Amino acid sequence: MYLRYTIGCLLTALSCCAASLISVPACAQAPAAAVPAAQKADSLALRRLYDEALLRGQSYENLRYLCQKIGPRLSGSPQAAQAVAWGKLTMEKANCFDKVYLQECQVPHWVRGAREKGEIVGNKGKGISAAVCALGGSVGTGGKLRAGVVEVKSLEALKALPDAAVKGKFIFFNRPFNDALIEPGAAYGAAGDQRRSGPAEAGRRGAVGALVRSLTAAHDDNPHTGATAYGDTPTKVPAAALSTLAADRLSQLLKADPGLQFELEMSCETLPDETSYNVVGEVRGTKYPDQIITVGGHLDSWDLAEGAHDDGTGVVQSIEAVRLLKAAGLRPERTVRAVLFMNEENGTRGGQKYAELAQQNHETHLAAIESDGGGFTPRGFAAQTTPALLKKVAIWGPLLAPYHANQLTAGHAGTDIEPLVNAVHPTALFGYDGDSQRYFDLHHSALDTFDQVNRRELELGGASMASLIYLLSKYGL
Ligand SMILES: [Zn+2]
Repeated sequence: MYLRYTIGCLLTALSCCAASLISVPACAQAPAAAVPAAQKADSLALRRLYDEALLRGQSYENLRYLCQKIGPRLSGSPQAAQAVAWGKLTMEKANCFDKVYLQECQVPHWVRGAREKGEIVGNKGKGISAAVCALGGSVGTGGKLRAGVVEVKSLEALKALPDAAVKGKFIFFNRPFNDALIEPGAAYGAAGDQRRSGPAEAGRRGAVGALVRSLTAAHDDNPHTGATAYGDTPTKVPAAALSTLAADRLSQLLKADPGLQFELEMSCETLPDETSYNVVGEVRGTKYPDQIITVGGHLDSWDLAEGAHDDGTGVVQSIEAVRLLKAAGLRPERTVRAVLFMNEENGTRGGQKYAELAQQNHETHLAAIESDGGGFTPRGFAAQTTPALLKKVAIWGPLLAPYHANQLTAGHAGTDIEPLVNAVHPTALFGYDGDSQRYFDLHHSALDTFDQVNRRELELGGASMASLIYLLSKYGL
């Protein structure tokens, strides 16, 4: 995932009540006599969803297979193709969809090659190893690349430097996470421009490469990758992430020896685009089949680990949410589609294809839900909709409160479902929100493995998503 938790464009004018907990009593906006019976039925329905998830949940074992039998699955890789086949088969075996099908899309194919090497070289020629990894989309170094280093804390600081200070150097972007922010996603958003645009800007200014502090608050020796974009930059320079410890070490050594050099070796490259697929499972609504609710996560993952929290959990939760509805005897009144999107990490081609086809087919999309913030303990949902509809959704808060999934915030819902906004104007987008305090310790690094996922937290998340689908499907918006 990237760019989560930035305030959604549709909600910039939202009043403060929308950003607070869903604490509006269920009876506040409904006829007093009608509420108790409906509320009781809904309360029992949700309880059945959570019972099924906690007692007979299947998402944890599905995740085990995806992570440990298939593993890293960056777009265009053989493992991504295996994940597509696995996703289709898993949906078919879940026996809860009316139909399961693929949507073809062309995806970028970037490969890391041999693992990268980084070294800090002092003026006495002694090398100190520095943990690095190529940023996704980076060009390779074509052998060893050695140059001096200029440290900056922002793109603005780089702009202010004279050409002579930049030319022939590595630009070292070293702005850390702001640890004072309560939401780690906000810290990620605030530091993210260094990775996304820093290397392009370094190349434009005549630097030979870019070193970017990993986007994490953790202090360890695991570099965190992620996509960088050269855009229309004429000179593409190699771009690597440094672990936070390596970044601190380099910064410290530079203070003592501004003339030190850095040596980088990376063999990554971009190959021709590949054909890949979104995997879609659909249940036709009983009353309003033409109104679609999408629930999804992304099937691709970075190549350094198993892509467990990013975004294996979202994938298995999306399948599970639909299975839970069937197992609990809750046939949706509106059409529900679980979508395993391809290529969120370095292109969003799957999300764009899904929206494009929805527009071509003149579909009506009521809502879309994405889980792409890790499979942690439920907190609630981020929503992109109008303030009036957010209030309407808020009356479901008491139903979700027993499961601690009732926090509703205004915010960006998900990268894969975002293209629907311009294509088919869904009424609302929702992003599943779990407790994100540990997410960026793992995100895009070698630590994002199956053993970091807790079974109960994962299953509770799937049930929370199923609950929102149930309510949306029953009441609409
Ligand atoms: Zn993700």
